[in-house]
Amino acid sequence: MNVQPDLSFIKYLKGAGGDTLKKCYQCATCSVRCPLSSDDKPFPRKEMIWSSWGMKENLIADPDVFLCHQCGDCSTYCPRGAKPSEVLGAIRSFAYTMYGWPSGLAKLATSAKNLPIMIGIPVVVIFVMWLISGGMHIPSREDFSAHGYQQFFGHWEFKWYAKNIFFIVLIMVSSVTIAAVSLYKGLTRLWKAMSAKAGISSTYRPSAVQFVSQFLWPSLVEIVKHNRFKECGTNDDRVRGHLPLMLAFIGLFIVTCWSLLKNDVIGLFAPSWHGPMLFFDPFKILANVSAIALLFGIFVLWTNRTKSESAGDSSKTFYDWFVIWEIAAVGITGLSAEVLRWIGIPSLGYIVYFCHLVSVMMLFLYLPYTKFAHIAYRTTAMSFEKYRESSFGKPAVE
Ligand code: SF4
Ligand code: SF4
Repeated sequence: MNVQPDLSFIKYLKGAGGDTLKKCYQCATCSVRCPLSSDDKPFPRKEMIWSSWGMKENLIADPDVFLCHQCGDCSTYCPRGAKPSEVLGAIRSFAYTMYGWPSGLAKLATSAKNLPIMIGIPVVVIFVMWLISGGMHIPSREDFSAHGYQQFFGHWEFKWYAKNIFFIVLIMVSSVTIAAVSLYKGLTRLWKAMSAKAGISSTYRPSAVQFVSQFLWPSLVEIVKHNRFKECGTNDDRVRGHLPLMLAFIGLFIVTCWSLLKNDVIGLFAPSWHGPMLFFDPFKILANVSAIALLFGIFVLWTNRTKSESAGDSSKTFYDWFVIWEIAAVGITGLSAEVLRWIGIPSLGYIVYFCHLVSVMMLFLYLPYTKFAHIAYRTTAMSFEKYRESSFGKPAVE
């Protein structure tokens, strides 16, 4: 086979944490030690070979790249110190940019140099919305105690739709829509690339119901149970950070849905349901427990990452740190805004709440291009893994 190495891709991998790539002498210890690699489809040795040859098309269509849980066992046992775990992380980061849409936003989210612009976009959007809404004010202590942040963007008399919700929905739904379209495009391209590489015919396809029940749902159950994380050897601490983090996001999602239902559906007919939740409201308790779980989870991951970098087991990359900083920012600003409401400091509370909105918008907006994207890409790869083993996944017959 005539291989044309993509030198710019190799350079990218080296700069994105895969600087030890060329140390590999292909002994396959990593594939033997990887707890997630199967006997018939081993990884990450083949990915190390492809990477050193710059075979990017092979790598971004390779489900194993996305099935890796970055446990680091392969790097620990590599006799040459080649750190395949970091190389696979760099490939994933490249793939999210390649598959990302719009490409300008995807490229923006690849480098710490762009952080001022990444933060600046939501700051400007939310600030302009605040100006347009005419809601710019610092409430009195009484108003702050009665409404919390529910009049951050002001208040109007139209009872069927609160002004605050209108502006928050405008900002967040726009960000979520961009993220959803980007993920849809990216995951579709990934699926087609994986299918083509595996030689799977597109003529015999499952229905939507079959796809969800046979491939997607079992993958989601496996993810929630953290079955594969529990296989990690050297970094078995990761599950202690990742699991509370995932449960925290599920908890906060439930509270957000309930809050919208309570205020904007039930509250329209029963005005007494409007307003911030009381401290002992079960959903408020869930929100606070989730926020604490989120901060605990991110503390564990932060500590693990710092230890691993100090020990020289992993490289310091923007890809790995952005997700940690971002989740910490969401948790700290959210919890601080809540505490400031309890103790009644509206001016500081409003500033912190502004920062909270900025961090939440960043989370949604950059989700498809940063390490957050693994939520969707890994789920897709796990579904594909089941799909290719099923009767649908048989190679096309010529
Ligand atoms: S990355 Fe290390 S363990 Fe894996 S094949 Fe290369 S030298 Fe061997
Ligand atoms: S990081 Fe863990 S899951 Fe990923 S290839 Fe290495 S050993 Fe396997």
